[in-house]
Formats: sequence, structure tokens, C-alpha cells
Amino acid sequence: MTAPLVDPFARAITYLRVSVTDRCDFRCVYCMSENMTFLPKRELLTLEELDRMCTTFIGLGVKKLRITGGEPLVRRDILTFFRAMTRHLDSGALSELTVTTNGSQLEKYAADLAACGVRRINVSLDTLDETKFATITRWGRLPQVLRGIDAAQAAGLRVKINTVALKGFNEDELFTLTDWCARRDMDLTFIEVMPMGDLGNEDRVGQYWSLKDLRARLSERVTLTDLDERSGGPARYVRVVETGQKIGFITPLTHNFCESCNRVRLTCTGELYMCLGQEDMADLRKPLRADLTSNAPLEAAIRTAISHKPKGHDFDYSRARPDGQMTRHMSHTGG
Ligand code: SAM
Ligand code: SF4
Repeated sequence: MTAPLVDPFARAITYLRVSVTDRCDFRCVYCMSENMTFLPKRELLTLEELDRMCTTFIGLGVKKLRITGGEPLVRRDILTFFRAMTRHLDSGALSELTVTTNGSQLEKYAADLAACGVRRINVSLDTLDETKFATITRWGRLPQVLRGIDAAQAAGLRVKINTVALKGFNEDELFTLTDWCARRDMDLTFIEVMPMGDLGNEDRVGQYWSLKDLRARLSERVTLTDLDERSGGPARYVRVVETGQKIGFITPLTHNFCESCNRVRLTCTGELYMCLGQEDMADLRKPLRADLTSNAPLEAAIRTAISHKPKGHDFDYSRARPDGQMTRHMSHTGG
């Protein structure tokens, strides 16, 4: 039996987030600049390499795989990868295969994803107003995403909506979004925006809106009860008593989830980030490519990396303001 991955703080690593591309068909203002330079294709792990990576992690006890990006569904032939991962669901080695997407390609892929064993997906959506949607995503079109969500639900996928809370942008849609999700039986999670320093968004579309504030605003209209449920990540959940709807709050800059952190993040070039808030990473592409017949060097590199997983991240609200913004983009590590 292979020993499972346990870090120095006795946390079992059972959740891997994999960014399969740095590219995207949107240019959300808080995530990317208008003119992005993407990595040359040769830098990316091939689909076969992504398979080997994920399979090795699964062999080491990873139970949940979240595919993200950039926009994961714009990666060419991505379904080949999903189909390949199905074997791990079938064998029981993997409990969950899931995706975080902007929804633009769901109309095309939802049924195939469901056929691959995907049961739940996260769709990012910050507004239900067409004009505002085009402003915040720059290149996105709301009707296309809404058709994608329809297709996902029609295919039997459980949809959770992720909404970045932006002051002066979607504050006025708090109840519209909440009610829309409740009507469609979709859970909703709000994400606190992480300030990115170098996106050239001096026009400031949307500003930091604290989720404490957002939650207080919600409580004026509905009754919220805290749920014990923990994901091992920065999300906390409440139940709306009146409707039974579940609402999540992701505050990536808080520390209070680190003790239960069960996850690591793999970038599309094979860098493993042990912590969302730390720059420390391990290059797994090298050991992967060093031996084409055995995964032993890769496995050893993963174990070494996990033995360096830090206790917690070290950014906080004060440091995350304009004088100390995050330098690594969410599109790099997949959020
Ligand atoms: N393209 C996919 C999507 O948008 O869902 C997956 C990748 S995206 C980087 C993952 C999540 O990160 C999205 O929900 C997005 O809203 C969030 N995100 C991106 N930049 C962010 C920022 N600066 N602060 C907070 N959340 C951010
Ligand atoms: Fe693309 Fe997602 Fe970033 Fe928006 S948040 S630009 S959809 S990767």
C-alpha cells in the first residue's frame, strides 16, 4: 500500500485543483488585463501529462479533482482528459470530478461532462444584467452563459454559482441574484475580490466589498443560520431559513481555514502550489518528463513538495490593499 499524502501539520491532502490552461475567452477585469500574453503551447502539460499527474495524485490518496483555468473548457480536446479521468471514478479511487467554468462552453459540453461522471459544476457569474456582464467580463456575453447553465441543468448537473462581490457593481443585485439562484435550485457562493495589482484597471470597475457587509445586508431581508459544513477551503456556508437555499462566502484572505486545508493547486505548466497565499511552489514537470516509463520520480517530488506545505498563508487585509497586492493571478493557479 502506498502511504497517503499527509503534510507536516497532519493534514491529509485529498483535494487537487488543476489548471489545464492559462487561456480564456473572457477578460474579467479583476482577473486579466485586456491584452494578455499567454504561455507558448510547449510550456503546457499535454493532456497525457495531465492524466499522468492526476493519476499519480489519485494513487497517493487524492479523492477530489477540480478542473479549472483560465477557462478549462476552451482547452482543445479537453473532453479527452475528462473521459480519461472517468476510469478513476469507476474504480472508486476518485470520489468527485468537478469543474469551475465561466459557462461559455457549457451549451456544447454539459451533456458530455455529465456522461464523464461530472455531477456538480461551479459557474462564475457576477451579474444578470447583459450590459454589466459585458463590462465586467469584457469579452463575455450573458445569453451564451445562461444557455450554458440551462444545458448544464438539463444534463442533470448540479450548478453552483460563484459571484465576486464588487462594490458599486453588483451590490444592487444582491437579492436579484439570490432569488434567481433559489428559483433555479442553485447554490450561490460569494467571493471576496482579491486586489490584483497589475491589470491596468484604473477605471476601477467594482471595488472591494467585504462579505461581512454583504452578509449583514442579506440578513436585513432573510434569516441566515450558520452551517457546520466545511470544505477544507476558505468557504463558509449558511442556510436561508425561509427558502432552504444554501449560500457560501469565500474570503480567500482570511486565515481561519488553514488548519483544515486539504488542498494543493497544480498549474497548467506543472507547478504545484502548496498554499494559495504563498509563493512557494514545486516544479513537477521536470520529474514527470525525466522518466517516461515510471512515475516514481514524480511521486517522490510530490511527497517532498507536500512536506513543505506551510501551516498557513500570510496575506491579510491590510497587506492586500494597493500597497501590497497579490502578484500571482487567479488565472494562473485557477482560483
Ligand atoms: N474561468 C473559470 C471561471 O471563471 O470560473 C475558472 C478560473 S477563474 C480564475 C476561478 C474563479 O476565480 C472565478 O470564480 C473568478 O471569479 C475568481 N477570480 C478571478 N480573479 C479573482 C480575484 N481577483 N478575486 C477574487 N476572485 C477572483
Ligand atoms: Fe477567464 Fe475565469 Fe479569469 Fe474571468 S475569472 S478572465 S472567466 S479565467
